[in-house]
Amino acid sequence: MVGQMTDPLDCLVIGAGPAGLTSAIYLARFHLKIGIVDAGGSRAAMIPLTHNHAGYPGGISGEELLRRMREQAAQFGGKVTAGVVSGLDRDGDMFLARMGDETWRAHAVLLATGVVNNRPRIDQKPMTWRSAAACCAIVRSATAMRRPTVASPLSGREGMG
Ligand SMILES: Cc1cc2nc3c(=O)[nH]c(=O)nc-3n(C[C@H](O)[C@H](O)[C@H](O)COP(=O)(O)OP(=O)(O)OC[C@H]3O[C@@H](n4cnc5c(N)ncnc54)[C@H](O)[C@@H]3O)c2cc1C
Repeated sequence: MVGQMTDPLDCLVIGAGPAGLTSAIYLARFHLKIGIVDAGGSRAAMIPLTHNHAGYPGGISGEELLRRMREQAAQFGGKVTAGVVSGLDRDGDMFLARMGDETWRAHAVLLATGVVNNRPRIDQKPMTWRSAAACCAIVRSATAMRRPTVASPLSGREGMG
């Protein structure tokens, strides 16, 4: 069923983490008609304070970064709709994206759905996932350069993002 969005979009962006929002800002600045759908699970929201994002010499929290990026996208018509895209199909030269009982039509789809962490099984002690020390490759590298590190027993599928 084709839902309430009768006019096809130029591009549907799926995912409103930093990747999806950056893309949306560019697409909207090109005056393209876009939609953004997000399931609300951005890994960036877990960043207490990031020091490697350009433009923020004092660092910025993930939540604040996402808030600002959303605001910037919205300035140019890139509004984020909360929801989960559960399926994508082709209909001629059009994409059909299912979201609940709606179907969105778009000439192009940009997948910015991120990744999901394989969280390690640590039985003895509940792990504070927000303690970002080992969750981000950039943080991990920067930390390792500054101080000696203990080799992690976590690897492969149980390793952290
Ligand atoms: C604790 C922690 C600390 C970190 N610290 C740093 C740091 O300091 N510096 C740094 O550069 N990186 C850091 N990272 C990594 C950074 O968060 C990720 O690289 C970044 O969030 C990836 O952005 P993204 O837009 O690709 O994906 P995400 O931010 O994960 O966004 C993907 C979005 O897509 C949505 N989505 C997925 N599937 C669907 C669907 N079917 N329909 C609708 N929406 C969907 C998700 O809900 C989510 O909102 C850290 C990560 C963690 C976990």
